[in-house]
Amino acid sequence: MLHRAVSALAAALICLADAGTAIAQPGAPVREIVPVTGDLYRARNGNWYAIFLVTPDGIVLGDPLNVDFAEWLREELDRRFDVPVRYVVYSHSHFDHAEGGAAFADTALFVGHENMLRNMDGRFPQMPGDMVDRNDNGRFDPEEIDIPTTTRPGVCGFSPRFFDVYDRDGDGLVAPEELQRDIVPPDIVYSDRMKIVLGGRTVELIHPGLNHADDATVMLFPDERVVFATEFLADALVTDDIHSLPSACGPFDGSPLSEWIRSYRTVEALDFDIVAPGHGALFDKAGVTDTRRFFEDLVAAVSAGMAEGRSLEELKSSITLDRYSGWENYERLLPHNIEAAYDNLQLYR
Ligand SMILES: [Zn+2]
Repeated sequence: MLHRAVSALAAALICLADAGTAIAQPGAPVREIVPVTGDLYRARNGNWYAIFLVTPDGIVLGDPLNVDFAEWLREELDRRFDVPVRYVVYSHSHFDHAEGGAAFADTALFVGHENMLRNMDGRFPQMPGDMVDRNDNGRFDPEEIDIPTTTRPGVCGFSPRFFDVYDRDGDGLVAPEELQRDIVPPDIVYSDRMKIVLGGRTVELIHPGLNHADDATVMLFPDERVVFATEFLADALVTDDIHSLPSACGPFDGSPLSEWIRSYRTVEALDFDIVAPGHGALFDKAGVTDTRRFFEDLVAAVSAGMAEGRSLEELKSSITLDRYSGWENYERLLPHNIEAAYDNLQLYR
């Protein structure tokens, strides 16, 4: 943290954003704090975003992201605001959003959906990017990371760095407790909905259903009319436009497509204007509806083909979903979306 340097990119961002907030270490992700509205802010680490609401009695933070970022954010919050972080809410349990909470543990309570406890009980957790326990030994083996990483590079899996970072004891395998070492478990869990009231301000927590994760929490800031949700609304491929085909890793991360669609509808039913996602730029409620319709159209097309007894290869060569041809990643990801839907609809009939 002593060797921070302001890069050209960060310097450019300082001109656009609040002076002094965009600071990058050499080779490190750009970090900045960006106002959303009122006392609500996004905190950025590359294309990963946290969110926080400042109240007279303390801060409610959504996602600590990782150890380095959380330490940076703690310093920034201490410097800018006169109140401590009182709650850390987890959007879901995946390591790339949930690590680093220790930076706030002296003042904060940690809140997550109840399924987060199961994902942290020592068994192989529900994971993103088709990183699944193929040999059922309860550990991450190299090939279990390599298979999705090499077959879907830049989209699914992780990288060979996974073992450099997470194989803490150097035995060539990563146990769940090694992967989750830097995740502070939730102190408070809920099942359906929960409300945090702090300093006269309200934050509503909603479990939308199963999707990219099985322990998702959507944060609704009703006074600000903003929703914070990660991954299922905008995955890590989304940058400046929500109109982007989903990564579609494995059979859609092991959640039934009916649950994905239910998750979108749950968010659409909330009263808000803007989504501040965990990845990419802000978007409006219509972006949620558009993405839900993509899923519905994908399911309809693949289901119809399956009902006609057509093979996966036939479906891949005939389903075009032309309405989405202008979306990001259309060419690259449409075949994978068809295959993931095919597998999903066979698994969860
Ligand atoms: Zn995730």
